Amino acid sequence: MSGFVFNEKPIQIERGDGPWLYDTDGNEYLDMGASYACVPLGHGHEAVDGAAKEQIDKLTYVQASYPNEARTRLYGRLADTAPDPINKTWLCNSGTEANEAALKFARSATGNSKLIATMQGFHGRTMGSLATTWKDKYKKPYEPLAGDVEFVPYDDPDAIREAVDDETAGVIVEPVQGEGGINPASTEFLQAAREATEDAGAALIFDEVQTGMGRTGTLWAAEQSGVVPDVITSAKGLGNGFPVGATLCREWIAENYGSHASTFSGGPVISAAADATVSTIVEEDIPGHAAEVGDYLQSELESALGDEVREVRGEGLMVGIEVKRGAMRYLKQLAMDQGVLALPAGRTVVRLLPPLTIEEEHADHVVDAVAEVIG
Ligand code: PLP
Repeated sequence: MSGFVFNEKPIQIERGDGPWLYDTDGNEYLDMGASYACVPLGHGHEAVDGAAKEQIDKLTYVQASYPNEARTRLYGRLADTAPDPINKTWLCNSGTEANEAALKFARSATGNSKLIATMQGFHGRTMGSLATTWKDKYKKPYEPLAGDVEFVPYDDPDAIREAVDDETAGVIVEPVQGEGGINPASTEFLQAAREATEDAGAALIFDEVQTGMGRTGTLWAAEQSGVVPDVITSAKGLGNGFPVGATLCREWIAENYGSHASTFSGGPVISAAADATVSTIVEEDIPGHAAEVGDYLQSELESALGDEVREVRGEGLMVGIEVKRGAMRYLKQLAMDQGVLALPAGRTVVRLLPPLTIEEEHADHVVDAVAEVIG
């Protein structure tokens, strides 16, 4: 019997420290993907891992219908840090579950079924989230998926105004598309989505599974547009490596959420880890640091790569390098020859989502490696 993992790489990682990973042969790698953006504070963060260990010594799990201290603290922390008036939280274990809940809540709270999503968008791989994900390659083998989903072009204010009507339950959108190629939305688009959903009584859902936790230079990417949605979903970096997702809602959504539930919702260990992650990110102004180092990284990449690439783009430490040919071979060379682990975003984009704690010296290391491989 053997397990199966999608796309398993020929490197066995055994240890991590900050932005560095070490394999079983003693090689070191700079983790410029933050392991799918899951460790914004880097590997082996003392406060986060310490909070989880302390919680394990007290109570590893109790059924979700009993409040636990760590979860209550996390609810308060998320309410304090979410844009007003978002102050209710549903906790789960992953990004797709956070979106699945958001879509269900939108239908339940509005009594409507129509969901609007964007072309090139990615929201996860369970049946509902997958139905709002754009690319056929993720969907085809599993159809039929949840119905009544309409796709509009990303960042097209007129298209979103036209699509939203009285039968709409919700609009789901990434403020910066991640898997779709690192595409930031304009404020005009997000405002149009806000106005249209407000007029129709529909829910506006920002999928911040990838953009949240300071990655784009503010705790939530939503803050940069000034647009406050009805729901924000989070996961990936929320537990700095511990599997936790959250669906943050305004009151009118939370009051009409239906009967959604999950056995592991807000278990004590992941709640303690997430609370320590969020408090560290806020108290140490990690988003501000991400904005500064992100600007540095982007401008250094631009000057080092020049015409060798189509574009360097992104927000904070969510950076895409659009190359002229397929990105996969560059990613392989970066990992095997340069010891730099990065991610793809579509066929032609090399995606950098490093821990938000990296310094300029790490950025320099990456720029040299990328220039060597692409330049
Ligand atoms: N939403 C976005 C924007 C994502 O980038 C991802 C994962 O890449 C998801 C949802 C799904 O998250 P998960 O893999 O934790 O289910």
